[in-house]
Amino acid sequence: MSLRSFLEKMDSRGEVLRVKRRVSTRFEAAWVMSRLAKGPVLLFENVEGFDVRIIGNVAATRGRIYSALDVSEEGFYQRMIESLRNPQPPKIVKDAPVMEVEEKPRLSKIPILTHYEKDAGPYITSAVISARDPEGKVENVSVHRLLLLDDSHLAIRLVPRHLYKLWRMAKEKRTDLDVGISIGVHPAVMLAAASSPPFGVSEYGVANALLKGELTLIRCEKVDAYVPAEAELVLEGRISHREEVPEGPLVDMTGTYDAERLQPVVEIVNVMHREDYMYQALLPGGPEHRLLMGLPREVAVYEAVSKVVPKVKAVNLSEGGCGWLHAVISLEKQTEGDAKNAIMAAFGAHSSLKHVVAVDTDIDVYNPLEVEWALATRFQGDRDLIVIRNARGSTLDPSADQESGLTTKLGFDATKPLTKPSKGFEKAEIPSTPNAELIVEELEKRVKDIH
Ligand code: MN
Repeated sequence: MSLRSFLEKMDSRGEVLRVKRRVSTRFEAAWVMSRLAKGPVLLFENVEGFDVRIIGNVAATRGRIYSALDVSEEGFYQRMIESLRNPQPPKIVKDAPVMEVEEKPRLSKIPILTHYEKDAGPYITSAVISARDPEGKVENVSVHRLLLLDDSHLAIRLVPRHLYKLWRMAKEKRTDLDVGISIGVHPAVMLAAASSPPFGVSEYGVANALLKGELTLIRCEKVDAYVPAEAELVLEGRISHREEVPEGPLVDMTGTYDAERLQPVVEIVNVMHREDYMYQALLPGGPEHRLLMGLPREVAVYEAVSKVVPKVKAVNLSEGGCGWLHAVISLEKQTEGDAKNAIMAAFGAHSSLKHVVAVDTDIDVYNPLEVEWALATRFQGDRDLIVIRNARGSTLDPSADQESGLTTKLGFDATKPLTKPSKGFEKAEIPSTPNAELIVEELEKRVKDIH
């Protein structure tokens, strides 16, 4: 299962648009991607100064991510939970499409995008990075941004999580950390790499479970790391245990510039790619970025909240909340207070959450107007608000304490109180008839004709 097989499927549905007009890697491609961020997949066929095509906005809608996994909206959480619980090690193969061309690194030949006005430079933003501990027992696969430095060097942002831990282990032994950097992989691999199973669980196993055993890997040629056999492009590298350079600013999920920090250098020692490889671009702060990062956390919140209330209908790490800081949860209460317990469970499941809104199941969590309506008609600040001061939040939020990451968390219980008659909280409906529906259908068609 590859990015290509997924694109074929999307193409057959008319969800891939080919861009024949020439486009520059400096701002232009990013601008076009941002203007059509929730639209179809974009294939830029004419990239100024490069003979490589760029593919963008691949997994930019929930619908495309669900169809990448062959699941319905309802089946998605369960599929993710099962795959996280039962990872399956992928088969290792010897021969692979990504091995068609092997060459010395010349990163300037890859059409890496410069996205935003004040970004530090061209950034690879769709890379899935795998590494193993010095004993080769633990493997980790995660997504990291990479700043282009020169033809064989990148700077990597290592947030203190699993890859950072492996790098620290190598650093203690005064060795560099071998990494396989894969670009252009199936969305399931991206999603698995963005999820957080415990340290020691390889996200490749999760990806393979999501793909029902159809993920295959190859061992890199020059470094001790494994990469998807059907990737478009692979960079083999070593994260330096000594050399650090300024990295950033780059726009992150919030759509604001993340700070400049000293981060390690990756030396690229070998490059493999398909003969006619596509370079996958991913717009920082765009819907695709927010979905790929946010969906695995949604699953974690769903799972945690399901343990404390009888029924969770839906969870949305909302787009306005950057797919990261805000959650809206619709649930069925059994006992007064259930919604507040649900809110606390959500905070426990995703440490970056800042605001959580709990609503009843008649509210569509994906519709901000309905959520606001629930706050307007079912919420009282003195009874229904939870305030948690000085909790661990996300430094991606510029209003959080940037040194400590401390933040104030709010939980909004916008569910109807069980202690009052529910009549007063009901959404009023007008009964429809087939005739009334026909009239509206005709009128709507005429409205469209006018526009
Ligand atoms: Mn991990």
